[in-house]
Amino acid sequence: MKKILITGAAGFIGSNLTKRLLEEGNFVIGLDNFYTGQKENLKPFLNNKNYKFFEHNVIEPYDIEADEIYNLACPASPIHYQKDPIFTFKTSVFGIINALELSKKTGAKLLQASTSEVYGDAKIYPQNEKYFGNVNPNGIRACYDEGKRAAETLICDYNRLYGLNAKIARIFNTYGENMDIKDGRVVSNFIVQALRGEDITIYGEGNQSRSFCYISDLLEGLILLMKSDVTEPVNLGNPDEFTIKDFALYILDLTKSSSKCVYMPLPLDDPHKRKPDISCAKTKLGFEPKVKIEDGIKNTIEYFKTRIDKQ
Ligand code: NAD
Ligand code: UDP
Repeated sequence: MKKILITGAAGFIGSNLTKRLLEEGNFVIGLDNFYTGQKENLKPFLNNKNYKFFEHNVIEPYDIEADEIYNLACPASPIHYQKDPIFTFKTSVFGIINALELSKKTGAKLLQASTSEVYGDAKIYPQNEKYFGNVNPNGIRACYDEGKRAAETLICDYNRLYGLNAKIARIFNTYGENMDIKDGRVVSNFIVQALRGEDITIYGEGNQSRSFCYISDLLEGLILLMKSDVTEPVNLGNPDEFTIKDFALYILDLTKSSSKCVYMPLPLDDPHKRKPDISCAKTKLGFEPKVKIEDGIKNTIEYFKTRIDKQ
């Protein structure tokens, strides 16, 4: 039985990864400080004899024996990571240093949740791993983007200096069950607004694009990457691209909602076009997203209906 440590375990991806790794017969240790994570997401595991949870801030060192570490701890939604940008930056930088030090000491394999945000407002399309990015280092998204870029730098230096094999997953917009109603990202906002009959808030003119990956496909990619010996950064996502305006109409259609679209100011430095080139993940990991957007979004709508009912 493998012992697997997940930081950010109470969050959207962390709780789905916990479920999947427990189902596969592993022992899972979760770590989280509930900055954006929800206690509700942990409920299904708390009585599982193969699960342990520690409330901890990854900015501070920790000492836990494990075979593998998934370092997911970091607020991921712009409204949350911009609320306390210094905390966000510290979480990325000290968080990865603490995970790398633990990996160096114990020999645990380590995977970092990096992000498509390392490409910033990309000048190439679709985005591949060779692109160095176009990030505003002084802007309101920099605490997240530059924090994640610095974390990648640290991983590559630890790998070179100490012979570690730490992995970098550049995750593109992912959605699904266990997202927080108040998360603030586009998928949760639009579905919750549509279900409640509230206005759908489109930022800017809605011509910017994102490409959406369902959670089970992302988990497959993360696990494949952890198993591999690939140490170069790998894009994980689904190239299924929508403009935000079209995405709003799509959600209205699937929820059969009569909500209206309203247009609000576009946040600063909001990337214009985002679509992953996943050829590296396909060739090196055999990764292939399988879930059609319609199925993934329908599952997510059903999930949000239950969360709204509980409020
Ligand atoms: P999330 O906000 O739902 O989960 C993040 C978790 O980390 C939360 O439970 C939060 O409480 C915890 N956390 C934050 N700071 C912490 C700290 N200092 N110490 C301990 N725990 C802390 O976000 P998510 O979507 O599940 O994202 C998980 C990871 O994946 C993040 O690192 C994020 O940057 C990355 N990522 C996610 C996406 C996506 O589309 N979901 C895309 C790119 C990258
Ligand atoms: N967005 C929007 N309305 C919302 C939330 C987000 O129009 O209520 C837009 C946002 O400006 C961005 C895209 O949707 O262009 C994706 O935003 P999200 O916060 O989900 O993630 P990002 O990819 O920007 O980190």
